[in-house]
Amino acid sequence: MDIKTPYIIAGPCSAESEDQVMRTARGLKDIGVGVFRAGIWKPRTRPGNFEGVGECGLPWLQRVHDELGMRVCTEVASTSHVEACLKAGLDMVWIGARTSTNPFLVQELADALSGTGVHVMVKNPINADVALWVGAVERLQRRGIENFGLIHRGVSSFEKMRYRNSPQWQMAVHMRRLFPGVPFLCDPSHMGGNAAYVPELSQRALDLGLDGLMIESHCCPSCALSDASQQLAPEELGRMIAGLSIRDDGSANPAFERAVSEQRARIDTIDENLVRLLASRMEVSREIGRLKKENNVAVLQLSRWDDVLESAISEGQTLGMDPDFVRDVFNAIHSASIAEQNSILHDDDGKENGRQ
Ligand code: PEP
Ligand code: MN
Repeated sequence: MDIKTPYIIAGPCSAESEDQVMRTARGLKDIGVGVFRAGIWKPRTRPGNFEGVGECGLPWLQRVHDELGMRVCTEVASTSHVEACLKAGLDMVWIGARTSTNPFLVQELADALSGTGVHVMVKNPINADVALWVGAVERLQRRGIENFGLIHRGVSSFEKMRYRNSPQWQMAVHMRRLFPGVPFLCDPSHMGGNAAYVPELSQRALDLGLDGLMIESHCCPSCALSDASQQLAPEELGRMIAGLSIRDDGSANPAFERAVSEQRARIDTIDENLVRLLASRMEVSREIGRLKKENNVAVLQLSRWDDVLESAISEGQTLGMDPDFVRDVFNAIHSASIAEQNSILHDDDGKENGRQ
């Protein structure tokens, strides 16, 4: 295992005062962070909370850049935000989760940022609609913006969970496949909603091969005017980063390579068997479909399916399997089975799915 430092962007949720910005930025520079973030305009879910200092905070970011040599960035949600950032000389911005859900706003931002050379990071939308995220990137690309990155910050849900936003890591994996080579960060602060969860989520993101992290850090987290519970003081952040490990894609160690390829071979065989088993299960299900058709019996017998599911879940549990996983797999098998039986039942001339 190789330990390297991931790419880190850090800074307060909001720029609150020149003193808070400078103290936080100095603390971050001391722990080796090169890119500073701070929200100038805050898209608060409910009105009446701190909505950011607005344009008067931009010179504070310029000062961080000029005095400390750090790169600085903030969130933009409208053409006027982009214009103000350009005037202040910012060369990096991000589109927040409440904005990437809205194609009108993303288009407006793509138009305003086109041709400026500004680096644009796109956070995932607050809901688990990966197509909206893809669409936001495509809107930038269509305006010739190639200098962009992605930030995964999880998605909100009605139920209260451990994390403020559900990680839905498969969204990140999907985007990574669609946009290979595009810088990809995770925001464990908004994902976790609590400073205590930031280390585990950061490690998980790096284990998935993401390139780095955007983390909220405040010189006095408990005094923060927004997102106080999820911010880390710069020194705490430094300790956390030192504890992270980046695992390599591969290893030069021949014993490791051999052991992994042996296990992969076992997986390949198991997968082959799984496909064969699924095919024979489907053949039996078709036979049942033919019997139901001859006897004019409905396809779906819910009580039978409840029994099948219950015994699979309890068998799975004795073998250490997650009940939700077993339920998902069996529900997928069941819907495919029902679809096959339905097509047999509705096939009037006796031809069943290409079979005579
Ligand atoms: C932020 O980064 O401060 C922010 C508001 O994040 P998000 O858009 O992910 O909620
Ligand atoms: Mn925040």
